[in-house]
Amino acid sequence: MSQKESIRDVDVAGKRVFVRVDFNVPIHGGEITDDTRIRAAVPTIRYLIEHRAVVILATHLGRPKGEIREDMRLAPVAARLGEILGLHVQVAPDSVGAETAALARALEPGEVLMLENVRFHPEEEVNEVGYARGLADLADLYVDDAFGSAHRAHASTEGITHFLPSVAGLLMERELTALSSVIDAPARPLVAIIGGAKISSKIGVLTNLLDVADTFLIGGGMANTLLKAQGHEVGDSLIEQDNLDEARSFLDTAHARKRQVVLPLDVVVVQEVTVDAARKTVPVRDVESGWKIVDIGPATAKAFSDIIQRAGTVVWNGPMGIFELEQFAAGTRAVAQALAGSSARSIVGGGDSVAAVEQAGLADRMSHISTGGGASLEFLEGRTLPGVAALQNARVRG
Ligand code: ADP
Ligand code: MG
Repeated sequence: MSQKESIRDVDVAGKRVFVRVDFNVPIHGGEITDDTRIRAAVPTIRYLIEHRAVVILATHLGRPKGEIREDMRLAPVAARLGEILGLHVQVAPDSVGAETAALARALEPGEVLMLENVRFHPEEEVNEVGYARGLADLADLYVDDAFGSAHRAHASTEGITHFLPSVAGLLMERELTALSSVIDAPARPLVAIIGGAKISSKIGVLTNLLDVADTFLIGGGMANTLLKAQGHEVGDSLIEQDNLDEARSFLDTAHARKRQVVLPLDVVVVQEVTVDAARKTVPVRDVESGWKIVDIGPATAKAFSDIIQRAGTVVWNGPMGIFELEQFAAGTRAVAQALAGSSARSIVGGGDSVAAVEQAGLADRMSHISTGGGASLEFLEGRTLPGVAALQNARVRG
């Protein structure tokens, strides 16, 4: 992945800068319940304010599907950002149009305007050219700091780059540097911890990482399909029958390339996935019919932890069990603790894995926590992210 130009490479003073952020925060009853995504873009916004730029922010919020939705307006988001920055953040009535353009023109350097939810326009998600041009007309420079939206080619993430010089924000730059360090020149051994519910959603990552990872530690529901492919009975556990061939092919290729693959040795099983279910820990060969695997067992957690201890780089995507229920969170927590205690460079991506690390209070012990669930997954799959490619192309055109 080649290096993108960032806001530090260009002169922003006096310029009107259109910043695409990912402020798609959870809001319940008008209250923001987690402002992590807002805080993540603050360094870029502060940098622009300090360097005397006019800051015009754009984001989507929720899935309004091209219609104005009162509960998806950005007023509470602007208010929270204003609190964090210690200044007033005005919200424009729309993201394009005469009134919004007049507001954008009237701004002085150091002032911040937030455009209304870009997904109130159906043109946003279909990347309509006229709308993209309308957004571009508000500014002199485009900054993409929305790593979490970089896997979507929308008007505010891709279309706009055809009309403005375009560079990465500090968050985008940090995400790309961290995730690239897994693929490009990782400190070895490189250990990939892959979990989560379904192998079908992770086979792309597994396959791509076969090129670079030395060791795979696999847990979560997806491990069941691999165990089954190896001939184990997994009782009534979640299994993806249609992916058995892919699972087998992954194991064969890993073996041929001398990659180490560690599957669960012991597992926690229950008959019903409920908080008060009777559970037991059994070796993987002893999962009886009627029982479901819900977590890795302690022997597996220990084996994984020992490997993590000796790693140079660890990339983690997907929890080891149904961690949302405290009873089945031990395996995931053990992995988070091993990562926190290891000197390896640790990169965590995936919405649920990040939530698990945060739940364990260990987020600040990781080298990098990705803010982009879907985007980080696609990056690790080796796919080109349209939002990132657009920055590169805009530079070539410019
Ligand atoms: P991420 O968001 O980190 O990429 P995924 O979305 O792929 O992770 O997977 C997270 C989900 O996987 C969680 O909701 C968790 O409950 C589920 N899961 C983990 N282990 C199991 C299992 N053994 N059986 C069923 N579901 C599981
Ligand atoms: Mg998830």
